[in-house]
Amino acid sequence: GVRVRIAPSPTGEPHVGTAYIALFNYLFAKKNNGTFILRIEDTDATRSTPEFEQKVLDALKWCGLEWSEGPDVGGPYGPYRQSDRKAMYWPYAEELLQKGHAFRCFCTPERLEKMREAQRAAGKPPGYDGHCLNLSAEEVTSRVSAGEPSVVRMKIPAEGSCDFHDGVYGDVSIPWESVDMQVLIKADGMPTYHMANVIDDHLMKITHVARGEEWLASVPKHILLYRYFGWQEPVFMHLSLMRNADKSKLSKRKNPTSISYYSALGYLPEALMNFLGLFFIQISEGEELLTMDELAEKFDPENLSKAGAIFDIQKLDWLNGRWLREQLSEEDFMKRVLDWAMENDRIREGLKLSQSRISKLGELPDLAGFLLKSDLGLTPESFAKVKSAPEEILEVLNQVQPDLEKMPEWTVESIEAELRASADKLGKKLKVVVAPLFVAVSGSSRSLPLFDSMAILGRSVVRQRLKVAAQ
Ligand code: ATP
Ligand code: GLU
Repeated sequence: GVRVRIAPSPTGEPHVGTAYIALFNYLFAKKNNGTFILRIEDTDATRSTPEFEQKVLDALKWCGLEWSEGPDVGGPYGPYRQSDRKAMYWPYAEELLQKGHAFRCFCTPERLEKMREAQRAAGKPPGYDGHCLNLSAEEVTSRVSAGEPSVVRMKIPAEGSCDFHDGVYGDVSIPWESVDMQVLIKADGMPTYHMANVIDDHLMKITHVARGEEWLASVPKHILLYRYFGWQEPVFMHLSLMRNADKSKLSKRKNPTSISYYSALGYLPEALMNFLGLFFIQISEGEELLTMDELAEKFDPENLSKAGAIFDIQKLDWLNGRWLREQLSEEDFMKRVLDWAMENDRIREGLKLSQSRISKLGELPDLAGFLLKSDLGLTPESFAKVKSAPEEILEVLNQVQPDLEKMPEWTVESIEAELRASADKLGKKLKVVVAPLFVAVSGSSRSLPLFDSMAILGRSVVRQRLKVAAQ
């Protein structure tokens, strides 16, 4: 039967893009009486964390996308977390080495950097130059036994092209010369995404791989691995990425993209799924409001548009409003609101900060409401109480934005430290820097403490608000 999976990497706040791809796979399974699986791809040990993994699980559950096999529920093809499967990958690498489909590469990071530099200088496309491709078996053995670090790379045909059929794109042809001799096993013994992904999809009997179009260019590597192992490859379907109305990619550097942002602001998961599901079906005007079951019924992977999935926030707002008005009884509505408030981190953190700053509960919306808004409605007058001149306010906003971008961590302490450093750089007092930020972030010059508010809102919302304020 049909077996599909969502394979998120737990390296950041769960992304609406992950919900979009997960929903496609979920509906595909539902439509075909298939099985929907969750696999955690945490081969990038430096960026993956257990906290993000938990958040991915929570976020997908919030969406209502339940899986039948996964790290939390187990299943016949476990474990479902790649770091727990580490030992399973090496024999496959050995098989490729023995069959001559892969080779050991001893190149140091310094040599690879020099190689890339030379390629950049010559205007050549980046890619491994084959330096270690033809080492003798004796040399390889002696260097490995001497303890010299090495990676395993896959061999790529010297000429011709990889021709394949994609369920969304149709026939695709990618010349082999544009395909890199991909590292399969890293020096620490961990497989790379490509290696682990192909082996796991095979071992987990995945029949259809549906994922974002950013992986289309990787298909030749994957197909080649299936061929090297003599395995049947799955059907590939590469979904167009979600875009903004101006066609640019929906990206966390530009928009709030975390699922938790949408839940915190009070979007219903049903409405978000309804909104994302509309990218996968053809309907006429007036038929937009659909439950998960109705989406599955109408779901048609043959009928997706390549034009792209436009993340039209006004449409999402409209659908969410309709869900609130038309799909919830008064009692359901009350219950939803209370549950939302109880589970909402922004509300909890906002209340903690508010307790010592109010004399009546009724003051809460005015004091902390900015934490739950998508638009603060700033005007030039909003900055009237800031003592600096407009040019100085702009100077501060422009200095602070890149400074906040490069912070590795987003915490109350690191935000304070970074803003102090920004003030130093500008040769200004901290309060001169803080005053306009206060308005930009909270919409008012009197509200909750700035650093805490910024930490609660998260980097992408702060980024968005600073941009709006600097316009
Ligand atoms: P960047 O800011 O670098 O563009 P990003 O927004 O792409 O980052 P990632 O952390 O790289 O975020 O992606 C997380 C997951 O979300 C990936 O699985 C990716 O496929 C998916 N994703 C990211 N952007 C989109 C998009 N526009 N449409 C659909 N899926 C996306
Ligand atoms: N771990 C990959 C991601 O986060 C999965 C890609 C795939 O589905 O093959 O996008």
